[in-house]
Amino acid sequence: MTNNNLNSTLKLSKKEMQQYGYKIIDHIVEHFENQDSKKPVTIASRMEMDALLAEQIPDQPTPANEVLDYVMDRVIPYCNIVSHPKSYSFVPGPSNYISAMADTIATGFNIFSGGWAASPAAAELEIITMNWLLDIFGFPVKKGGGIFTSGGSIANLTALATARRIRCGNDFSKAVIYLSDQAHSSNIKAIKILGFKKEQIRIILTDINFKMSLSKLKNAISIDRSEGLQPFCVIASAGTTNTGSVDPLDNIATICKREHLWLHVDAAYGGAAILSNKGNTLLKGIERADSLTVDPHKWFFQPYEIGCLLVKDHKWLNRTFSEKPEYLRDIEGNESEINFYDHGIQLTRRFRALKFYMSIKTFGLNSFKKAIQYNIDLAKKTENLLRNRCDWEITSPATLAIINFRYNPKEIYLSEKELDQINQNISNKIVTSREALLVTTILNGQITLRMCLINPRTTIKDIQETIEKCEVYGKEELTVVQQSC
Ligand SMILES: *Cc1c(COP(=O)(O)O)cnc(C)c1O
Repeated sequence: MTNNNLNSTLKLSKKEMQQYGYKIIDHIVEHFENQDSKKPVTIASRMEMDALLAEQIPDQPTPANEVLDYVMDRVIPYCNIVSHPKSYSFVPGPSNYISAMADTIATGFNIFSGGWAASPAAAELEIITMNWLLDIFGFPVKKGGGIFTSGGSIANLTALATARRIRCGNDFSKAVIYLSDQAHSSNIKAIKILGFKKEQIRIILTDINFKMSLSKLKNAISIDRSEGLQPFCVIASAGTTNTGSVDPLDNIATICKREHLWLHVDAAYGGAAILSNKGNTLLKGIERADSLTVDPHKWFFQPYEIGCLLVKDHKWLNRTFSEKPEYLRDIEGNESEINFYDHGIQLTRRFRALKFYMSIKTFGLNSFKKAIQYNIDLAKKTENLLRNRCDWEITSPATLAIINFRYNPKEIYLSEKELDQINQNISNKIVTSREALLVTTILNGQITLRMCLINPRTTIKDIQETIEKCEVYGKEELTVVQQSC
């Protein structure tokens, strides 16, 4: 493609496409090979980014390789490496190469995953992989259903829209929804998007283990009933993002059944743990949910974006989302031939099922099980490592690969304010060093460090190195605190 030669068909020659594509593959492979030796953290201000990248929309062509080099130089290096072994914060995105390539196929062929008629095999693969997930979570495979979404946020929104449609019909003015103070913020976001008022939301406090208090839930429901309101839905967390804690699912399911409430389980983070022995026990009762969110782009090692909503009865989705505009008239198949635009919010959808399908098939489910078990064991080992050093306090023990801890040397008395400051500064220092992504969260009002260890390539040695760095920073901070008093 010669410069200044307008190309209104947006085409490249075969040779150009090959060279361009191979170059990109080389970049991606280099990244998979060498990411461990890079720094996972990027820090840049808006001003710096503007200085590096801001430009007017280009009217004239630029050689393809030039644009690619520009992006590889100036864009990619200024994004955190969430698949880095020392990326411990938020929920990391370990990803995998097969799925990255599968996404390339889905995009390369631009497969429309909205309706059966457009891509029967894409719809079929979504049905097949959904059935795998239904089976994994103990949902009925024939009757149940689901849909892949962009992520957990949209899966939760889709679930709550469905719950409201099925349980409240058109009038939800008296409907009340319950969730714990540890529930993920995307749930509140979804509730607000759906038009519920603040008075219709009950935040149920958690117990000392960060699990929803059953007695408080029961109380809230009975007070609402006595006031003539309509309790209709409980959102339980199966793996809170903060601590990995799992609400008492089985007991909540029993309450929901007795009270005729919809049970939505948000297992966006923790759901995958069902493939491990320990997780399977912790998640007992998950199969009793009416709807379930799980995020394959978290602990099923998929690249962004793939979230998933499962429901007990696939007809619920259709009843909630099916609209029939004139121009879709001709393509209604029979009922078994699912049009996924009738199961959720999007009409035009990318082919998300492909990466899930290809990666599970290539590595085998047992590899995933082993990776998840490794992560859970790694968190436990990290807890032991910290307990064996005298400067650390465990603020929430290893649960579903998440652990919270803070620097708190035993022999020195420090006020809560000083501890908060020290731990915040440890995090600031380690992040500023760019060696590891390790940020804080707040538990019981205390600033605490948090690791989410779902990367199967993170080793105990990586963690030990990070903790040792943190100790050095902790000691530095200690002298600052002691000097100031
Ligand atoms: C990450 C997360 C979400 C949101 O999912 P996205 O994929 O980020 O939209 C919802 N709930 C829980 C428990 C999560 O951990």
